Order: sequence, then C-alpha cells, then structure tokens
Amino acid sequence: MSLKFLIVGFDGLRPDFATPENMPRLSGFPEKSHTWENYLACFPTETYVNHPSIFSGVRPERHGVIANSFCYEDEKRRMRLFEGFRIDSVMEADALLHGLYAVPDLGARLAREGKRLRIYCANSPGSTRLQHVHASDFSGHLNAPVHALDKAIPGAEARELIRAHGKGVPLEFPDALGTTLTVDLFFERELKNGPEGLAEATVLWIGEPDHSEHELGLFSAKTLEGLRQADHEFGRVLDWWETEGRAKDIQLVVMSDHGHVEVARHADFEEILENAGLHVLTGSDIAQGADPKADDVILIGEYTSGIWVPGKRREVLEAVRDALMASPEVGMVFSQPDPGLPGAREGLIPGTFSEGLLSSAHPRGPDIRFIPRGDPETGRCVMTNALPLGSGAHGGLLPQETHALLAIQGSRFPGFGRHAEPATHEDFAATLMTMLSLLDDDAPLPLPTGRILSEALGEKESMRRAPVSRETLTIARGDFSQTLHFLTFQGRNYTLSGGRTERLPL
Ligand SMILES: [Zn+2]
Repeated sequence: MSLKFLIVGFDGLRPDFATPENMPRLSGFPEKSHTWENYLACFPTETYVNHPSIFSGVRPERHGVIANSFCYEDEKRRMRLFEGFRIDSVMEADALLHGLYAVPDLGARLAREGKRLRIYCANSPGSTRLQHVHASDFSGHLNAPVHALDKAIPGAEARELIRAHGKGVPLEFPDALGTTLTVDLFFERELKNGPEGLAEATVLWIGEPDHSEHELGLFSAKTLEGLRQADHEFGRVLDWWETEGRAKDIQLVVMSDHGHVEVARHADFEEILENAGLHVLTGSDIAQGADPKADDVILIGEYTSGIWVPGKRREVLEAVRDALMASPEVGMVFSQPDPGLPGAREGLIPGTFSEGLLSSAHPRGPDIRFIPRGDPETGRCVMTNALPLGSGAHGGLLPQETHALLAIQGSRFPGFGRHAEPATHEDFAATLMTMLSLLDDDAPLPLPTGRILSEALGEKESMRRAPVSRETLTIARGDFSQTLHFLTFQGRNYTLSGGRTERLPL
C-alpha cells in the first residue's frame, strides 16, 4: 500500500464553530485525531495568502502572495491589480511576476516525483486555480472549480466534467450545491477505480462556512444550515474512509485556512486619508488603468488593507501613518522591515510594527498595512461598508480569525491528542511533503521552511524538551499603542493575536 493524503477543507471554519450541534460528524473527528490548540493562519488571515502557504510549505514572506488583492508594476512599469478570485488575474500575475508563487508549489513537487495532486474546490475559480496554478502542465493532475467546470484544467478533463455536469453548479448561499458536487465528484471520479486509483494528494475544498458567513452573516440561521449540510456531506467521506480508506494507508486531514470575525461598525478609510490632505487611488482605480503620481497613495482592501506610496516619499508615508494612528477606527499599523534591521520590532516607518515580526514582509508588500480596530473578547471588528453589519470578515489578528482547524487521522499518525505546540500551514505542508518523500533528493529547489509536526508522529517524548513560550511586544507613538502576542516554539514565532493595547469594546 502506498501512502496517500485526502484533505477536506472547510473554508473559514473557526474551530469553535465545529460543535456537536452545528457539525455532529466533524465534531467527533478531532477527538480521535491529532489536533492543535493553536493552529494559526498566516498574516494577513486572508484566503489567497493562506492557501499558498498550505500549498507550498512556506510563509507569505517567501511565497509572495501577500494579500487577497495587491498592486504591482509590470515590465513597462504600469501598475496592475492582483485579485485572487479571478483566474485571469491569477494567471496574469503568474506571467508578469515570473511566478505568482515565488517558490515551488506542492503540485510541482509531486509531479517531479511522478505523483499527482487532484483538486475539487467550491471557492471562487481564482481561489481554486491558486491551489495548483500549473495543473495542466502535469499528467494526471487536476484543478477543478465546481462552480465553473469549464475553467477546470487540464482541458481534456474539463470536457469530461462538462459532459457529466455542464459548467458546474451556481453559487447560492448557503452553497449546498457546491458542497455536494465537490463530494459527488470525489466518489464519481476519484474512487471509480477504488482507493488504489487515488492520487497521492486529493483535495476536497468546501466553500462553507466562508461563502455564507460573508454573504448572510456569521451567526445567521442560513449560515448554520450551510454548515450542517457541509457536515452531512463530510459524513459521506468519513463513512467511506472509516470502512475502506483508512485500511488503505490513506491519511485523512480536515482543515480550515483561517477563522472569521463579525463586522460591528463601518468606517471610511479613504475619507480618513483624504481628510489628512492625501490623494487616494483605490484598487478599482488601478484596475481601470489609473497612473499614480508621486503624491498619490494607493489604498487596497476593505478590512486589513495595504497602502502603496509611489516613489515612497517619506513625508507622504509619515502623513499616512499619522492619519491612521489619529483615527479611533484603526487597530494596528505596520510597515516593511528596515533592511539594515530585519529582526527589529519597529518597521521602516517610525512607530509602526515591522511586518518582519509576522513573516509577511515582502518586496511585493505594501509600504504601510493597517488593520481596523477590533475587540478580541467578542471577535467583532470595524471595516468599510463593503459588507453589511453582522457579516463575517477575516484578514486581521483577532484570535477568532487567526485560529484555524487542523485534525489528522491515519496509519502514519499513531495515537491522538490535542497538542499544545503551536503550528501553522507551512508546518502541515512540510510534514506532508516529507512523508510523501518529495524532499529527498538534492534537487536545486528551495526547501519548505515549515517544521515537521513530530508531536503527531508518535515522537511526543522527544518534544517535551522543547518548551512553548509566550511573548508580548508593544510599540507606541503618541497616544497610539499596539500589541502583538506570539507563541515561540523551536525558535519559530507564531502570531497568536494583535490589536490596540487598550481594548475598545465592540
Ligand atoms: Zn478562506
């Protein structure tokens, strides 16, 4: 028997939402699994940042997909907008940036070893493509968005899928059709030759609860209905795995990419900057071909947002910082690290935290990034009016959005337990790649930077020598004070949460 992984993803699932009432099948799974008290998303806690970590084994500072949306210059020095939900934008950025992922991804590593990655995903078509950008280059690989099967790659499989299911199912809220088709395609196509026919890595990525949380609200009855339906569909996979898959050396992984917080209040950050005398261009201005001038600032994002200052003029950057820090609606302000002081607490702009602390610093990154204010006790936040009050949002550092789910069961993960060691997506990916023998030879590819999750491999005793420690960093400028909380383990920093030092109840 050969080792294989089946990964079932629930986009945006907060671990505390997987209760026996909401998800009777899933909630029983972690009890018999290896799970983590602190399985933490990367910053920003957005989908198109975290999936590249899951599918590469490195943090955003190395894979370079630094936000759901960001701007970059093409070869003619024209500004372009990356928007992760659109396949054309993903592929354009992949071409113009000479690799959207700045490192080799899981699909490419599997292909080098003659192994396969096959993906069915109910997120947006762009989000699906981002999980395996070059699936059409490798024999037997698949990347299929269930809401747009005509956009599946390779084309030959897209045609087969269309013959059976047309262009897929429409996206409704909750996304019951998408969830069911994702699971149906697994049984219909991946298991048609029995478990022996499964790829070394198969991904069934369900778009709930994320779709409904954004669209209908974090706590709406229909969102809960979508969660229950997704749990029922997961139950079909679990039943098969328990009766057949487990004995065939298939490791079952259940995970989410990030959590969610609730929009409590709206604020207009464009107006806050304009009121400080700054001229603001938005992502849609860039998409429409605006040509930024040296005294413009480019603001991209509705919640956690990036600000790019063409020419990086010091007085403009400091005016942006001052306007943000003077606003009661702003929670945290970051800038890129000073190249001469890469490990420093303070970034290039005095008074701001360095993104180097969060493993999110990158040449593609914004000059200044900010998170609107949030309340870590209630998990409620401020953002623009792009989403109604009560909606789910994510991208910041409240504990409800940084915590995600990872639960693994299978023959290669003996025992079970809820581990106190912190972990993040790069660690899961590095463990999977190591177990699938993708990193064995001396190929000239950069290695993943994640750690092996030894605590889930029956090596608990050796781990006890490595303590988990907590660290808190604060930085203040005038009346603005912000704090970051980390866990440190085996010399690695894991960002637990962050916000204004003084809590503002929301
Ligand atoms: Zn997501």
